[in-house]
Amino acid sequence: MRIVDIIRSKPVTFSLEVFPPKTDDRYDTVAQAVSALSFMAPDYMSVTYGAGGGTSKNTVRIATEIEKIHHTTALAHLTCLSSTREEVRGILGDLRDNGIRNILALRGDQPHPDSGFPVPHDYRYAYELVNDIRAFGDFCVGAACHPEGHPDRVDPKADIEHLRNKVECGVDFLVTQFFFDNGKFYDYADRVRAAGVNTPIIIGVMPVTSVKSLRRMIAISGTSLTPRMKTLLDRWGDDPDSMAKAGVLHASEQILDLVSNGFGGIHIYTMNKPQIASAIRGNIGFLLGD
Ligand SMILES: Cc1cc2nc3c(=O)[nH]c(=O)nc-3n(C[C@H](O)[C@H](O)[C@H](O)COP(=O)(O)OP(=O)(O)OC[C@H]3O[C@@H](n4cnc5c(N)ncnc54)[C@H](O)[C@@H]3O)c2cc1C
Repeated sequence: MRIVDIIRSKPVTFSLEVFPPKTDDRYDTVAQAVSALSFMAPDYMSVTYGAGGGTSKNTVRIATEIEKIHHTTALAHLTCLSSTREEVRGILGDLRDNGIRNILALRGDQPHPDSGFPVPHDYRYAYELVNDIRAFGDFCVGAACHPEGHPDRVDPKADIEHLRNKVECGVDFLVTQFFFDNGKFYDYADRVRAAGVNTPIIIGVMPVTSVKSLRRMIAISGTSLTPRMKTLLDRWGDDPDSMAKAGVLHASEQILDLVSNGFGGIHIYTMNKPQIASAIRGNIGFLLGD
């Protein structure tokens, strides 16, 4: 099913993100996590994309399992910075042939100069990928937005103009980078709407379960820590069990506030941890009509 039709059909949607294995020997572990997550009956599940042969193939493979084995709508992420146009067309063909109808079109991050990954320079920005997907076939296309600004941005106004340009290329829905300060998101949503962008916005919610991984993600996303999140990290950061419980409660309260303020597209960055997603699902069930 097209995700934009799912979003339009109900006031609150609940969806889950998984990431594919980097190596094939981890495939079964990820497949088991995907299976456990699919039991929560999410409205759809997204699969992240890592540039480079094995990882990108596993995105298509996991997305196909989500559709064909778990009978759940899949959203395949696709990045362009590290790919040639020909490689992108190859992946689009694989997705189409496997019945995947939804793609999240992303630029991808600049590979580290020492990583050995080439940058072919066929693409510079995500809007070029949106154009190519539209030219290729009939996909429902999502794109990223960054409520606290993209780390590369020079000027917040330009960031919104670039977002508008990307949406005008044919984006059906947006998914946000994670954030902890809902107030900053409400302000951003007002600015996006004021710029004439009326595309549905799905909110990516990150349950914090590990200080180490949070530090890594903050460094690349530009997300800021709130005083409340800092307090939780200071108090529970050295106690993984308690940190996970605090992270679930924080994410659940964030979602309660978002839905109460009329933002009903809730997407959980699960980090492939079904028990965390399930605990959040339990807390917010009443918002989903349970
Ligand atoms: C929901 C979500 C999912 C993600 N999933 C993945 C994933 O699966 N795999 C992965 O590798 N990464 C993923 N990322 C990370 C993403 O690839 C990075 O954040 C990347 O740096 C930017 O991607 P984008 O699609 O927002 O880029 P763009 O929309 O291209 O924007 C990037 C920057 O370029 C600027 N810009 C855009 N157009 C122009 C222009 N014409 N001139 C000048 N500047 C311009 C924008 O203002 C912005 O500052 C995800 C991010 C999000 C929010």
